[in-house]
Amino acid sequence: MNGPVPVEILRQHLIDPEICIRCNTCEETCPIDAITHDGANYVVNADVCNRCMACVPPCPTGAIDNWRNVLKADAYSIDEQYAWDELPAQNSSVGALVEAQAPGATGEAQAPPAAVDAPVAASDMVRGSTVPPWSAARPYVHLYTHKAPTTAIVVGNYRLTDDATESDIHHIVLDFGAMPFPVLEGQSIGILPPGLTADGRAHHARQYSIASPRDGERPGYNNVSLTVKRITCDHGGNATEGVCSNYLCDLKKGDVVTVIGPFGNTFLMPNHPGSHLLMICTGTGSAPMRAMTEYRRRRRLKGATGKLMLFFGARTQQELPYFGSLMNLPKDFIDINLVFSRTPGQRKRYVQDAMRERAVDVAHLLDDTSTHIYVCGLKGMEEGVLQALREIAETHGMDWEALWDRLKREGRLHLETY
Ligand code: NAP
Repeated sequence: MNGPVPVEILRQHLIDPEICIRCNTCEETCPIDAITHDGANYVVNADVCNRCMACVPPCPTGAIDNWRNVLKADAYSIDEQYAWDELPAQNSSVGALVEAQAPGATGEAQAPPAAVDAPVAASDMVRGSTVPPWSAARPYVHLYTHKAPTTAIVVGNYRLTDDATESDIHHIVLDFGAMPFPVLEGQSIGILPPGLTADGRAHHARQYSIASPRDGERPGYNNVSLTVKRITCDHGGNATEGVCSNYLCDLKKGDVVTVIGPFGNTFLMPNHPGSHLLMICTGTGSAPMRAMTEYRRRRRLKGATGKLMLFFGARTQQELPYFGSLMNLPKDFIDINLVFSRTPGQRKRYVQDAMRERAVDVAHLLDDTSTHIYVCGLKGMEEGVLQALREIAETHGMDWEALWDRLKREGRLHLETY
């Protein structure tokens, strides 16, 4: 006797184009290259994705965590996903089929058995923490979205880098007036640049880390600051004009900016006063470090005692954002290590070189359970920094694999690199 023909149902992994800020984190994280993008959308190839979940925790907006039950034969193709402005609704007949197949489902008319692919357990491919420090304040996220953004007024915009240098990095202060926009150090916001893309779509949001502490760039004001580098060439060195960075760097006082967010619920600082911060950054990746440092500077006056150690890399001193204000911080408050890669007449130095030179002090921090590590900046630095941490730990008698695992589980190793 012939039985019912099994229907193969796929739990298809999709990315919400309305929430995605196109930061490329998912594509970088995916261990099997299932995620790709065109000029419009980031998409998941259903033929490749094995639902390992490695991409889900690092996504700053949660756009990555979307699933639809589909007949395997009808899975959304990459080209279909490229054309989406919003996610399709769950197909109700497939949804009903899955429900009918769920354990314990009753009813006379049993549907044919469906082979539903369940996601496999969370992968250990994630290199940093997916939880915040135990003493972090609770963040607000997604208060404003693409469909319902808010606005802020530009109250400051000035160049941080020397006029003679190629890097045009700006410090931009946005004021939200009476609109609630609560943020924590380490969170980011999305900016919606005006205008349309070449194919007539609205520009997607660009993400920037907040460079100011939770109580405002100016204490007691409802404002945030950003650190924005004017993009004039792509990663391959070809001339290109970054849509949002040029828009932001050209803003004048009084201009109105459309904002979404805040984003981020793990790259957050500890609140207990004895916690130590080991901060490692390059270029504009210094934004969250500035926010955390300034918050601790303000709190120091209220009794915070933990150590701060900073490794900060830039091409030259003139291109290092916030050089002047960093130099004014008391030496007994923060241990600052600046490295420059393109100073004429000097050898190229990266943050990981300076970390090795300061191995004894870094090892002391690694050995202390109050230490929280933050890495932010260029993608390329992540591998080098983790390698330096490994070497330092191992030469000081620590088991790096065990320590790494513990740092991740305890919300004490945070990576944000693009
Ligand atoms: P950059 O000027 O291109 O580079 C900063 C320094 O990092 C340079 O000295 C560079 O050396 C060095 N570097 C290059 N490769 C390295 C490696 N493998 N290991 C260690 N150091 C390395 O930096 P940027 O243009 O400001 O870019 C900063 C990054 O931070 C961007 O990817 C940005 O997306 C990210 N970010 C920005 C924000 C924000 O809010 N704006 C927030 C988070 C992250 P060379 O001389 O070799 O180039």
